[in-house]
Amino acid sequence: MTQFYSRHDAYRRSKKVYMCGRCGTYYNQDMLSLLKIKGKPKPCLVCKCPTTYMIFDSEKEFKRYCELVLFVKLGKITDLKIQQTFECRTEGGVLIEKYIADSTYYRGGQFVVEDVKPLNRKTGMPFLSPEFRRKKKWMRNLHRIDIEIYF
Ligand SMILES: [Zn+2]
Repeated sequence: MTQFYSRHDAYRRSKKVYMCGRCGTYYNQDMLSLLKIKGKPKPCLVCKCPTTYMIFDSEKEFKRYCELVLFVKLGKITDLKIQQTFECRTEGGVLIEKYIADSTYYRGGQFVVEDVKPLNRKTGMPFLSPEFRRKKKWMRNLHRIDIEIYF
């Protein structure tokens, strides 16, 4: 498991991964720099088709997604969705803030909202930004959902 020394270090070392929505080929930053490609390959190098990519903010997030896909295939979880949006609104319906979950799924009939966070090497706990802590709070109070943190 990759470990980080600070939130800054975690941010610097998190690298986007792109997965082709057509053929499922994925490209990480090491592959893209070897191929001398900046950003996403257009079109996809394998299926040669214009495509929309699934974008993962880090290798860790991508790896976790692969695990969850496997769990779906093994029947351990169902209804896997990524980047589902939850809203925080006032009683009058005014939108205050949005939270986009890394993934949501059902495990044993229980709805799970999951977020992937980097590990703080010093504490052995995940790094949680003030923004994420705030969103976690209203997700609990407004939607009655405790976000599970994968780290
Ligand atoms: Zn492709």
